[in-house]
Amino acid sequence: MHRFLPYAWFGGRCVPFAEATLSVATHALHYGTGAFGGMRALPNPQDPGEILLFRADRHAKRLSQSARLLLTDLPASTVLEAVEAFLKANQPSCPIYLRPFVYTSDLGIAPRLHDIETDFLIYGLELGDYLSPEGVSCRISSWTRQEDRSLPLRGKISGAYITSSLAKTEAVKSGFDEALLLNSRGKVSEASGMNLFIVRDGVLYTPGVDQDILEGITRGSVIELARHMGYTVVERPIDKSELFVAEEVFLTGTAAKVTPVRRVECTDLSSDRPVMNALRERITAITEGRDPNFGHWVTRIRIK
Ligand code: PMP
Repeated sequence: MHRFLPYAWFGGRCVPFAEATLSVATHALHYGTGAFGGMRALPNPQDPGEILLFRADRHAKRLSQSARLLLTDLPASTVLEAVEAFLKANQPSCPIYLRPFVYTSDLGIAPRLHDIETDFLIYGLELGDYLSPEGVSCRISSWTRQEDRSLPLRGKISGAYITSSLAKTEAVKSGFDEALLLNSRGKVSEASGMNLFIVRDGVLYTPGVDQDILEGITRGSVIELARHMGYTVVERPIDKSELFVAEEVFLTGTAAKVTPVRRVECTDLSSDRPVMNALRERITAITEGRDPNFGHWVTRIRIK
């Protein structure tokens, strides 16, 4: 059972979590006409009265962009102000995951995005490791990643997560930890809620933004960080068979952080992962506010 934070942002203010409830007739519940974000925050290990948020500006911008794709207006500044009020109300004392959500809040039927009320909420929960940091086994899903011509993949549109749910459950029920989805062109796209990188001959490769991926904020950060650390990073289509011959395969996401893949289908991958280890170590230092070179990736919010 998740441990939810005591207050939610709901209807424009902080209310006790249990009071933040919606009607059974809420439009978004039926049609998936919402978009969410996902941010991690942790108390500064050197100063617990301060909360560190990783790339808060990027997350707020992506949510604002997702809202725009749902034809509603949610400025990034509104998201950031609500996040700050939410953190001050909750006073978290351990690492948390924040879930902001913009959605069609009208009651009633007819799938649409026009002439409809929308609202914005945030709730949070305590979150440790979403996937095992030791590595995960992955199945190549029988479900295909959606295409951008069917729905806007640049937003985290809630309705899109039916495919992630089907793929994840198929993988888990068949004995794997996670699913890798191919796109409609048969190229590797991403996992159920993470982007993917492979390492071949010391070079990092990741599917480009034209491969029906979510433009992950961790992905973008890993690309920038890896280049800063002297690695070559190439964004290009990745074939399925490359997963079996890569020196390293790893997943990136806010919840999953940087997680190694230890097996793909029936092929075990090497447990020697110098590139992933170096990147993971550095990104952990950044999120904990210990890396002055990347201090601008961390928003500091004083809660006490
Ligand atoms: N792909 C999907 C489908 C996701 O839901 C997520 C998680 N937000 C990601 C990739 C990783 O994105 P980020 O690094 O921004 O969390």
